[in-house]
Amino acid sequence: MTRLSPGAVIGILGGGQLGRMLAGAASQLGFDVHVFCPEAGSPAARVAMKHWQADYGDDEALTAFAEACDVITLEFENIPVSAVEAIAATGIPLHPGAKSLAISQDRADEKAFLRGIGIATADYREINAEADIGPALAALGGKGVLKTRRDGYDGKGQAWLNGPADIAAGWDSVGQAPSVLEAAIAFDCEISVIVARSSTGETASWAPPRNIHKDGILARSTVPSGVGQAVEAEARRQAVALVDALGHVGVLALEFFVMADGRLIANEFAPRVHNSGHWTPEACQTGQFEQHIRSIAGWKLGDTHRLFDAEMTNLIGEAGLIDPAMLAPNETLTLYGKREARPGRKMGHVTTRLGPRKD
Ligand code: ATP
Ligand code: MG
Repeated sequence: MTRLSPGAVIGILGGGQLGRMLAGAASQLGFDVHVFCPEAGSPAARVAMKHWQADYGDDEALTAFAEACDVITLEFENIPVSAVEAIAATGIPLHPGAKSLAISQDRADEKAFLRGIGIATADYREINAEADIGPALAALGGKGVLKTRRDGYDGKGQAWLNGPADIAAGWDSVGQAPSVLEAAIAFDCEISVIVARSSTGETASWAPPRNIHKDGILARSTVPSGVGQAVEAEARRQAVALVDALGHVGVLALEFFVMADGRLIANEFAPRVHNSGHWTPEACQTGQFEQHIRSIAGWKLGDTHRLFDAEMTNLIGEAGLIDPAMLAPNETLTLYGKREARPGRKMGHVTTRLGPRKD
């Protein structure tokens, strides 16, 4: 593809905080940003030059939006296939493309794809009816996590099953939707690799953070991860193999469980910038948002070298009502501009530079 010049228009599907931070990076590099999302006053739309407010099923609006842009990207992966097709019909490039989206939208396809390219995942069974769950649970050692194949995020659409007695309630709590049952992984810790692949095929990854989740939502990401160089190098190798296999263009995040012996088990991937990469702008030469824009614009990728040890803490719900005067000098605040601090809602994050990189 051709290299976009500053002044070109980048279109973002989705109006959340990831879109807002992508828009910030795009404007820093001299691009204009249009945002397409159904909600009024969303975090990304409020910083964009133009907001196209319509439903993802509105092909006419999507076509008009695409024709106003030079490249389209997205900040959430659950856009309908019909929207991808409507954009493809205009000939305006969409990055990431249909393959990354289709596979990441379905947990069963995602696991099969990862395994197919030699990346280990939790053992799992496809669940299409309540009657499938009992035998699957027994086969997976009596304990597991039931996850809807589609539309899960922040731990939503998931139910832990600790034995046959949990099956009926678990099946109801995932809405009796087609699901996967995953074996429970007794991991030592969780890490993720943020990786970028440009439209020219160049790749670059960041050192993986260690991630702590609370109630199924990311609470904190820390670098260095403490898992050691060999494990980090292997995780980064696998993430690069994944973006190459997908022909992915843009940033992608691959989440891993790390076992006590250093073995890696991939959990899932997101074909976009990721919450566990929010520390990269403050701690590295190039951050994930800038890198994503470079990737989709056909620019040379920036250096991902990490300069600082750092920790990123999510501000969830009421924690988002933080008083900026309380911040320490080594803390950087990012707020998403959400009007209402509902429980479980990601309102912003704080990145703390813990000092110059020591490892
Ligand atoms: P997010 O959007 O935050 O990534 P999600 O809804 O896509 O979340 P997952 O990443 O599948 O959900 O799971 C969220 C968290 O639940 C994981 O990071 C991990 O802490 C825990 N978890 C998920 N699957 C398993 C498993 N098979 N064994 C043990 N823990 C698990
Ligand atoms: Mg996850």
